[in-house]
Amino acid sequence: MSCDILLCDLDAFFATVEQRDNPELMGKPVIVGGDPGSRGVVSTCSYEARRYGVSSSMPMKKARKLCPTAVILPVNMPKYKEMSGRVLDIFKEFTPDIEKVSIDEAYLAVKAGTGLKTARKIRFVVQKRLKLPLSIGVSSNKLLAKIACSLAKPDNIKALWPKETEKTLWLLPVKVLPGVGPVTEQKLNLFGIKTVGDIVSFPLGALENIVGSHAINLKEYAHGRDDRKLEFARERKSYSEEITFPRDIYEKDYILAVIHDLSGELGYRLRSKGLEARTVAVKLRLPDLSIKTRSATMAGATAGDEKIYAIAADLFDRCCGKPPWRLVGVRVSGLEKGSQLTLFSEENKKKEKIRLVLDMLRQRYGPNAVFKGRRLFMMKKDVFDP
Ligand SMILES: [Mg+2]
Repeated sequence: MSCDILLCDLDAFFATVEQRDNPELMGKPVIVGGDPGSRGVVSTCSYEARRYGVSSSMPMKKARKLCPTAVILPVNMPKYKEMSGRVLDIFKEFTPDIEKVSIDEAYLAVKAGTGLKTARKIRFVVQKRLKLPLSIGVSSNKLLAKIACSLAKPDNIKALWPKETEKTLWLLPVKVLPGVGPVTEQKLNLFGIKTVGDIVSFPLGALENIVGSHAINLKEYAHGRDDRKLEFARERKSYSEEITFPRDIYEKDYILAVIHDLSGELGYRLRSKGLEARTVAVKLRLPDLSIKTRSATMAGATAGDEKIYAIAADLFDRCCGKPPWRLVGVRVSGLEKGSQLTLFSEENKKKEKIRLVLDMLRQRYGPNAVFKGRRLFMMKKDVFDP
């Protein structure tokens, strides 16, 4: 089935969210990014700041020099993520076929012939409900939709159809094509290839000498052809962690300690996605190399390390057979959105606090930043390196 493709891109996203939430900033140069005192860089800047030459990933110090009157704000990622989710929810009202490219950009596929009409509706709804400017490029493939979007910016719609390739695409600089970064652009310019049209007329063999195997793609793109499909994100159905040991393990306690650790990892992953799981499974490889899995489904969902561990340990107890073991894994499935209004008992409240601190440390310093007592015990035993 042929489709129209829309590339929807929020304009200067972080900066426009801040301007919207603080009307005093409307019409003023706004820079969102790292601390100017240290080595922070510009994450996003408003169009007003761009007029001074400020751009993304520029050092904050330089940006401040270029635009001393700019209002500088720290990056408020939770806020932008929430807003991005709400924009995505609006897209889903129009089509299920969505490829999320980044926090502020997504490709949508809609029925052929309805692209422009749908784009107008989407922009209207996003503007009305969220008061955020959105640019949309419309075409029949990703390449042209993306280029159309860059021509539409800021805050507009533009269609670019394959039949317009000659009079529009060929006049544009080579850097509009995917895979043409500053280095490739410079190389091409050296050979007098400045516009997309120049690529069309340049012999393929000679082009290969300049950019290698990318030449064939460039030729296709230059003709406005692109058969890349949209990559739809499938919703995750489960999370799992497993460890294969470098040698046979005979100690049951050791396996339980590993299960405890894996349960902690899974609990963390669930919580960081705001999910809870109903089903816990354990996987083992037995001495005859057969794989055994056992699962249990709970009445209520959980994202708690200890709850996951308790079930996994019980499953292990019941299906472990005789040692040695070579592999152990834990999986959680039956995922649902975590309830944010869970009422905690005093004891649970304490545990919850510890968990939040642990999660924060992991977020900041990586998954191995913290582990509980059991892993330390394992390491002391030097099971891997006897
Ligand atoms: Mg954007």
